[in-house]
Amino acid sequence: MAEAEVGDDVYGEDPTVNRLEQRAAEIFGKQAALFVPSGTMGNTIAIKLHTTHGQEVICEARAHVMDYELAMMAWFSGCLARPVFAPDGVLRWEHIQPCIRRHSPFWAPTSLIVLENTHNMAGGVVTPKEVMDEICDRAHELGIKVHLDGARIFNAATYLGVSVRALCEKCDTVMFCLSKGLGAPVGSMLVGSAEDIARARLYRKRLGGGMRQVGVLAAAGLIALEKMPHRLQEDHQNARLLAEELADAPGIRLDPPRPQTNIVILDIGETGLNSEEFCTRLRQRGVLASAAGPNRIRLVTHFDVDREACRMAAGIIREVAVAAWRSCRGSR
Ligand SMILES: *Cc1c(COP(=O)(O)O)cnc(C)c1O
Repeated sequence: MAEAEVGDDVYGEDPTVNRLEQRAAEIFGKQAALFVPSGTMGNTIAIKLHTTHGQEVICEARAHVMDYELAMMAWFSGCLARPVFAPDGVLRWEHIQPCIRRHSPFWAPTSLIVLENTHNMAGGVVTPKEVMDEICDRAHELGIKVHLDGARIFNAATYLGVSVRALCEKCDTVMFCLSKGLGAPVGSMLVGSAEDIARARLYRKRLGGGMRQVGVLAAAGLIALEKMPHRLQEDHQNARLLAEELADAPGIRLDPPRPQTNIVILDIGETGLNSEEFCTRLRQRGVLASAAGPNRIRLVTHFDVDREACRMAAGIIREVAVAAWRSCRGSR
């Protein structure tokens, strides 16, 4: 980052950003790519590209675009989200098909489907390639676009043993994060057709995401993109370790029972603590976790926490659960 060659990216003159965008496009097998400061901005731009005001966007009921982006699809694109619940977090064509709306005197037409792979709030669940391909094929037959919120698409590809290029082959646009599991301090990418990305560049500027000398960040992004995907398997093994160590802990239920990637969600309802209180007790003992609902806490494994640290964390989580569970039963 200190040695990055930089320029003004608003003029397209930052060589490091240009290299990152070119590599991202190549790796995903798309025509072009755009560096954006956050995943939310990438998703926001993609939704804008594929819709006009007064249309519907189908997404899974717990999707990031639904719950964690301040209603940007309404605020910026004037669209209505049509959430569809998929119990295991894998949105399939059979869930989507009945919710598609065509032009009628009453209905706002569906113009876009947003997929999320891996699905964050469903516990890092992976959507297989065949499921994504079928959705894209059927949607495209109806003139509906498909955007992939692929914040963790490299985790999905690692789990499936396929390339991100193959996995995202049929999606119109893909957003993925260079931060999070790939370890860059900042940044996400949007990839798609040359035409879409040229328009995306203008929306990025409108949103205040045109940056100068941003090669400093793109330099870290290049390492995230080229080097970091190869080690994601370690994070997945560490998530499985956490799950195995906690499977029989009193008051704790794993949901889903077997983590596929780097996210572990624990239902701690039986301990008698709510998730905020549980997380506070963990934090006091040096374990960082976040609440994902009143009784659910979410753990994410990553580069900065190795296997031994995960084993320690599991021990602490178990101790906190045991203590709460005992006092909960004692007070009944
Ligand atoms: C993190 C994340 C994003 C992007 O979030 P930002 O904080 O805006 O970078 C989008 N989708 C999913 C599923 C995420 O986990």
